[in-house]
Amino acid sequence: MTTFVFDFADGNKDQKDLLGGKGANLAEMTNLGLPVPPGFTITTEACRAYLESGGQPDTLEAEVSEHLADLEKKMGRTLGDASDPLLVSVRSGAKFSMPGMMETVLNIGLNDESVAGLAQHSDDERFALDSYRRLLQMFGSTVLDVDAEHFSDALDAAKKAKDTTEDLDLDVEDLRTLVEDFKALIREHAGREFPQDPREQMELATKAVFDSWNTDRAVLYRRQERIPEDLGTAVNIQAMVFGNRGMTSGSGVCFTRDPASGDQGVYGDYLQNAQGEDVVAGTRNTVSLADMAEIDKESHDELIEIMETLEKHYKDMCDIEFTVEDGKLWMLQTRVGKRTPEAAFRIAVHMADEGLIDMDEALRRVNGEQLANLMFPRFDVNAERTLLAKGMNASPGAAVGRAVFDWATAVEWAENGEDVILVRKETTPEDLHGMMVARGVLTSRGGKTSHAAVVARGMGRTCVCGAEALDVDTREGEFTVRDGKTIREGDVISIDGSTGEVFDGAVPVADSFVVRYFEGQEVDEPLVEAVARLMDHADAARRLRVRTNADTAEDAARARRFGAQGIGLCRTEHMFLGERRGLVENLIVAESDDEQSAALDELLPLQRHDFLEIFEAMDGLPVTIRLIDPPLHEFLPDLTDLSVAMAVADVHGHRKKRQRKLLKAVQRLHESNPMLGLRGVRLGIVIPGLFTMQTRAILEAAAERIRGGGSAEPEIMIPLVASVRELDLVRARIKQVAIDVQEETGTTVPHKIGTMIELPRAAMTAGEIAGSAEFFSFGTNDLTQMTWGFSRDDVEASFFSTYLEQGVFPVSPFESLDIDGVGSLVRRAVEDGKAANPELHLGVCGEHGGDPASIHFFDEVGLDYVSCSPFRVPVARLEAGRARLT
Ligand code: PEP
Ligand code: MG
Repeated sequence: MTTFVFDFADGNKDQKDLLGGKGANLAEMTNLGLPVPPGFTITTEACRAYLESGGQPDTLEAEVSEHLADLEKKMGRTLGDASDPLLVSVRSGAKFSMPGMMETVLNIGLNDESVAGLAQHSDDERFALDSYRRLLQMFGSTVLDVDAEHFSDALDAAKKAKDTTEDLDLDVEDLRTLVEDFKALIREHAGREFPQDPREQMELATKAVFDSWNTDRAVLYRRQERIPEDLGTAVNIQAMVFGNRGMTSGSGVCFTRDPASGDQGVYGDYLQNAQGEDVVAGTRNTVSLADMAEIDKESHDELIEIMETLEKHYKDMCDIEFTVEDGKLWMLQTRVGKRTPEAAFRIAVHMADEGLIDMDEALRRVNGEQLANLMFPRFDVNAERTLLAKGMNASPGAAVGRAVFDWATAVEWAENGEDVILVRKETTPEDLHGMMVARGVLTSRGGKTSHAAVVARGMGRTCVCGAEALDVDTREGEFTVRDGKTIREGDVISIDGSTGEVFDGAVPVADSFVVRYFEGQEVDEPLVEAVARLMDHADAARRLRVRTNADTAEDAARARRFGAQGIGLCRTEHMFLGERRGLVENLIVAESDDEQSAALDELLPLQRHDFLEIFEAMDGLPVTIRLIDPPLHEFLPDLTDLSVAMAVADVHGHRKKRQRKLLKAVQRLHESNPMLGLRGVRLGIVIPGLFTMQTRAILEAAAERIRGGGSAEPEIMIPLVASVRELDLVRARIKQVAIDVQEETGTTVPHKIGTMIELPRAAMTAGEIAGSAEFFSFGTNDLTQMTWGFSRDDVEASFFSTYLEQGVFPVSPFESLDIDGVGSLVRRAVEDGKAANPELHLGVCGEHGGDPASIHFFDEVGLDYVSCSPFRVPVARLEAGRARLT
């Protein structure tokens, strides 16, 4: 029989699948002997069974009863007992943390009778009534689906009647009235009475937690964070301890290091006379741990000691929730804490230096996406800027955009292509959608542990929180700064998530420190030192080489500074745009062989010069140059534009001979599906002069470079090959050009001839093709298009969002390689190609060459290198190193 319930004492931190993160870590802390209020966990398996069948598993109730009886025995109290009630919390806890996305209900067990028992036993009637109203409020909104605003409005009204903004100013009488008001609200909006039976409360709360797995915001969050849909959540039922029992009590959240900067030393927020939700909601301003030491030194010191224990035990930065009840410290939660990219790099290296972990483990703790994030620009400190306010540096980055004050406007404006900054007093899970589309998030309340900060860090969004100098009025859509300046909806502001600064207008941005370091400049920043050390470690570990996709000497040189070990793809078609388009037009409209050769002769020296510059930039490193790939009509004017121009010319009786020829060419070359038309090797076969001219330009440039004392290693690459016969036809001509150039220049140019593998047929016949190729480069952009049968340009904007929503794929196959489908073709082509030609050199030059997950796959299947855009080169180096760690 399946066990659905486990006591905290019976689990451990490695059981996150079954017990959820919170449950597994509560179990771990319990077994470490830390002060954890006792309780038990209902497994994710029970949740999955419930969600599948719509009802609780048959045996669950009996199991819960058994564990509840144990808990009651341990606590010496009975759930909801009229004279001295045991109260419990019912909290969600999935395998992966989903901050604020799912439900929690505190103070279960209170009812009209037990509230009196609690008052008497605690000798504090106000506390008992406050706890009851919190239960009614949380239970009403999360379990009984009453709009939370009804409760907060009633609470606000009660405070207003007392002429205060502080919950703490409400006295016993006010709270007694509020309890009755809340019960009435439930009656009115839920159509039922608040359940007085404690066991019924517990059961309904458990179901509500299960159901909360499927709320819109939870689904959205999982999609954003790529958390699987089918995990379900566990439910933790735990004896309540109270942080709201007067000023000797309180609640807090802390980190064993600063989660924003990675600085060593503890970081935390504490709030006296409060329950945990008050801290995270950011509705009241918290104090630091140092201030907590002044308030309650004993609890503070014990907390610091426990933080040390936890960090040593987990060997990682921990995020902790605690409560002090009447001077006694209790641990409510811990987990490995979310951190900014900067903190990730710095913490990993610090911990290696402290001997907690080794450098391999440090490298595992960072990733390419974080590195990419650190390469984003930051604000230029030398630019003129007007500081509006300073809040907390909750999540780094430099964000510029128009201020918006609600999530719906953020979404609407972002959809229209506007950059927006979402400004709120504090954020709630409702704001998630707005946070996702915004460039940055700015709040006037809450600390680094507030909802806004935690969620923004998790999604890598720039965030400044707790900018108290801002008076935010979300209804009016404006905020006012202390000196009286008002920023209205639509006004541009800039926020710096690394310093917490908020500026008026758009502040210009500058290169990040990390980019400056990659560029070879001296940068004395602790972050840069951490990045450098981890890059060195990755470089030493990796097997894959990293090349770049570059078509200009400038890009090539930059990529080389960033660590590229050659060019994996030089797209030559980009060299035919701009002023040179006319020359290509000449080639296309040529009516005789002579005209065609004349056009090619004009292009030859220009191409040669392009290649020479690239060889110079990449001197000594391999350079893969792809012969022209796209359909020729891409170089011609648009058919409609041209037809209109011609019609107008006709009306005016103008003679436009060239235009007429162009129009004919455009009509002749028009294709319904150009992606599947006359392009790539097909062009090379139909208009051989084009490929021969390019080959000549490549080899002459290389010869010139070699004669000039440099070295050049061109690799000539044929695109869109489907059959070995195509390759053979083109290869024979290339070889002939090589012989000619050698004779003419007297210089031997070492070179290779290879092909792209970007059509399924090429992958399936790779064994044959490998006999005629010295290298393969996987063109996974086309291979993805051709395997799925959709053209990227058409589908990404039209139905990809629906496909992602409906789970056809968890992430766009253009972003991260579809390992099952496209990956199988790659794997097969590698195996067959190598079997036929053991010398075959293998690389990838599609966008996937810079994508972390894809890089791990390319390492596994045994490619020799990946090639990606210059800015992704450091990311690829790091991930290629990480791919080697077991
Ligand atoms: C590819 O198809 O993966 C490729 C690199 O070629 P392009 O993106 O230029 O079609
Ligand atoms: Mg391609």
